[in-house]
Parts: sequence; structure tokens; C-alpha cells
Amino acid sequence: MIKVAVFGAKGRMGAAVCQAVEEAEDTELVGAVDSGDDRSAALGADVIVDFTTPDAVMDNLSWAISHDINTVVGTTGFDDERYQTLRDQLANHPSTGCLVAPNFSIGAVLMMHFAEQAAKFYESAEIIELHHPNKVDAPSGTARTTATKIAAARQEAGLGEVPDATKSQLDGARGAVVDGVHVHGVRLRGLIAHQEVLFGAEGETLTIRHDSMDRVSFMSGVLTGVRGVLDRPGLTIGIEGLLGLE
Ligand code: NAP
Repeated sequence: MIKVAVFGAKGRMGAAVCQAVEEAEDTELVGAVDSGDDRSAALGADVIVDFTTPDAVMDNLSWAISHDINTVVGTTGFDDERYQTLRDQLANHPSTGCLVAPNFSIGAVLMMHFAEQAAKFYESAEIIELHHPNKVDAPSGTARTTATKIAAARQEAGLGEVPDATKSQLDGARGAVVDGVHVHGVRLRGLIAHQEVLFGAEGETLTIRHDSMDRVSFMSGVLTGVRGVLDRPGLTIGIEGLLGLE
């Protein structure tokens, strides 16, 4: 049995992780820590899963690494500087692993992977991300990451700019532009988290669509991370490698 503690255990994601860990046959929940709780409740865990806040996560990880506890991190707000801080801390704890994944939904990871594969074959590429109206940022992190991956694949394939003859437009009519890829955001009551990646060439289009209907969609990826981090010392970013997609 893999002993798992959860930081952010009373949050929306953390609570779902606690339930998933309790339900899985090879994991057991040994600690549930939320803000104000004593982190020592997580001592003895093989893996700590952190779904807290960008402000809290680095201190939590520093504490976990200093205690040689592996971590699986879904909390957002990571940049290169934060990744480097983690690498530096992990260097002093060579048997400890830390997996940070911006997206634990296997479908979303596959969507980005397929989009990256398709990008080099198509002259045109655009992204539409669709979310519930309570979302505060736009475009979504997943849409940004997809655009960046598509742009890198296009560059590697020697593709130029996407064709677009627009000469006049209302502000925003062609969406935001991320690394040369147009990204459109829809905010609609009734939606949860969805994305379409559209590719076009002469005479054909290809649409790759992913729909998240429930937070439970992240749990299989989180559990994959919990199992995988035990054999992966150092910093791992994303679950692609654990899914055999790299
Ligand atoms: P949430 O409902 O606000 O949950 C965060 C929880 O962490 C709250 O209960 C909060 O307590 C607690 N917390 C704050 N500081 C803490 C600390 N130092 N130690 C322990 N617990 C602490 O947020 P959420 O929707 O679950 O999302 C959590 C994070 O996951 C966000 O960064 C979100 O963007 C990210 N996320 C990632 C994925 C992915 O696939 N990677 C998917 C969904 C969400 P208080 O409310 O009392 O402060």
C-alpha cells in the first residue's frame, strides 16, 4: 500500500483526491492537512499530494522535500524560477521525487499530445476554449500550453504564420494570440471545462475536442502520478512521461 497524505484536503480538488486515495486498492490515506493544520500529520507518508494555492505550495514542497517525502503537485502558478528552486532543493535529497502537473486530466493531456502531432500537417490552427462563467482567467492554462506546443511543432516543421487576411476587426474578434496561434475563449453557464483544437488545410479540417464533465476526471491522472513518482527521483513536469507519451 502506498501511504498518501493530502495538502489542501478540504479544498475542491483535495477532497476529491482524499476520496480517490481511499477508494483505490493500492493507496491508503494517512494524513489530511488543510490551512492552519499541523503538517506533521503527513509525516510517514510515501507521497504527499498538494492541491492548495500558489501562495502556499512552495513552502509545503520545501517542507516535504526536507523530510524526504515524494510529492505530486496539482497546484498551479509554477514558472521556470519555481521549477529551478525545486530542482535545487531536490539536488540535496537525491532519492526524493516531485511531480508537478499543470493538468492531471488524461483526456486533456492526450488532446495536447494529439494536437502537437497534428500541428505539422496543417497550414491553419486555432483553439477554442470553453468554460463555466466563474473562471477568472482567460485564456485557460491548458489553451496556452496547447498553443505553445502547436507553435513549437509548426516551427520545427518549417511552417510560417497561419494564413489570415483580416485587415480590420473589432478588438478581440480574432481572439488572443499565443505564440502565433489564435485562442478564443467562451464563458457559458452550463459548461465546465472544454477545448477544441481546429486544424485546416486545403479541402479538409481536423477538430480535436476534449470535455471535462467532473473533477473526478483528474483523479486517474493523480493516482498515476502517486504511483509513478515513487520511481522518479528529482523533478518531473507533467504526466506525459508516465503515460508513455514522450
Ligand atoms: P480550493 O477549493 O480553494 O482548495 C485549496 C485548499 O487548500 C483550501 O481548502 C485551502 O484552505 C487549502 N490551503 C491553503 N493553504 C494551505 C496550506 N498552506 N496547507 C494546506 N492547505 C492549504 O482550490 P481547488 O479548486 O481545489 O484548486 C486547488 C489548486 O489546484 C489550484 O491551484 C487550482 O488551479 C489547481 N488545479 C489543478 C488541476 C490540475 O489538473 N493540475 C486541476 C484543478 C485545479 P483555505 O480555503 O482555508 O485557505
